[in-house]
Amino acid sequence: MVGRNTQGRLVVVSNRVALPAQTATGGLASAMRAALQERGGLWFGWSGKVVRQDSGEVHRLRDGMVEYATIDLSRADHDDFYDGFANRTLWPLLHYRPDLVDYDRKHLAGYLRVNNLFAEHLMSLVKPNDIVWVNDYHLIPLAAMLRQRGLRNRIGFFLHTPLPAAGLLIALPRHRELMETLAHYDLVGLHTARDRRALEEYFLYEVGASMRRDGRLRTPEGRLFRAEVFPIGIDTQQVAESARRADEREEIHQLRQSLEGRALIIGVDRLDYSKGLPERFQAYARLLERSPQLHRKVSFLQIAPPSRGGVPEYRQIRRELERSAGHINGMYAAPDWVPIRYVNNSFPHSLLSGYYRAARVGLVTPLRDGMNLVAKEYVASQDPEDPGVLVLSRFAGAAQELTQALLVNPADTEEVAEALGIALTMPLYERRLRWRRMMDVLEKQDVTAWRNAFLRRLAE
Ligand code: UDP
Repeated sequence: MVGRNTQGRLVVVSNRVALPAQTATGGLASAMRAALQERGGLWFGWSGKVVRQDSGEVHRLRDGMVEYATIDLSRADHDDFYDGFANRTLWPLLHYRPDLVDYDRKHLAGYLRVNNLFAEHLMSLVKPNDIVWVNDYHLIPLAAMLRQRGLRNRIGFFLHTPLPAAGLLIALPRHRELMETLAHYDLVGLHTARDRRALEEYFLYEVGASMRRDGRLRTPEGRLFRAEVFPIGIDTQQVAESARRADEREEIHQLRQSLEGRALIIGVDRLDYSKGLPERFQAYARLLERSPQLHRKVSFLQIAPPSRGGVPEYRQIRRELERSAGHINGMYAAPDWVPIRYVNNSFPHSLLSGYYRAARVGLVTPLRDGMNLVAKEYVASQDPEDPGVLVLSRFAGAAQELTQALLVNPADTEEVAEALGIALTMPLYERRLRWRRMMDVLEKQDVTAWRNAFLRRLAE
């Protein structure tokens, strides 16, 4: 059970809501659903629908102890809030890409408008004893707007992205207006110690806050809040079980057959510039260039479902990767061998876990990532008797826990190529040793431990 404040419901707020009929794909979605089912509560957010004129209607749905409340967004709200400020300003900033930050006052106004809209609806949905858990960069100022309207409940916030150092954050115009609103939460959760340090430094040196002996930050206006590290986990047992079962599936059988004994390297990422895909393709090309003995002996499967097609940078990276995959295949392919299999579809977890298990190497090389759940899922899906090797970017939050992966700088294509070479020839005893250590971490710090730790702290 979670904390003392168990009489109140849990109210989860996130940009998107995974309704009961939908499969919860991301880690956030499945974690929230499990938390709500355990404790009973409400999940509020955007329905995913864009309408010509927002009717102000709240769509409500009940499934056992869990209630869902969603609203539609008008075209203008969607474009300014979601495609605009959230994904063209905040996302690149939070992923250390100031060169891609596109700041527009109109977008900021839309971001604040939608946060206000959320606050308005929540005021009539939240009951006095409820605990409110707000998720991610779309909703940073929500607590401040709720407090303004008089809400006194416990409100927690979890940032699923990285948080860059103050020196970078201040590149955002009017950054204080946004960042200071974090102090209206009781608890701010982050994935790594680096992210927490960034937040503390921002408040200490930019805002003029002080650190109290109990570890809470105190703003000059006297607001008290706590920032702590809670690395999100996966449902380790379930992923392992699903990978075992997937071995029986026709699709996995077909994949294995198509490999004809070649070693498989797998990458699975949303098509996003933060994932380091062009650099990854280059590293693989470098591997082929320097290791002719691997030609025809290895195959790289990159699964990359497109996302955020409304944002120009995403369309551009898609074109770039198509060119790069075509180029590499053109250089190295043989009539009976395709070096890169580049797939723009998305797959359900039940199948992905089987693909991970079939791969000798998991190649996870984001330039920056809050956590990266794929890295964890890859490890949990392995056959304990014959596990594969994880090659992991140092700049994924997961690298803080999965220290037995082969850790690389994703921008250093030479280093990544080298790590791939090592992974492909790693002896079984070393693979087992590294895998066991990583699996221990994943079993202990799974997604249930993550949400319980956050909610316990928030209820204190
Ligand atoms: N995922 C999926 N199907 C796909 C590709 C990805 O279900 O075809 C899932 C993947 O298993 C993981 C999540 O999407 O649980 C991606 O989370 P991650 O933290 O790796 O990256 P994000 O997309 O949140 O940046």
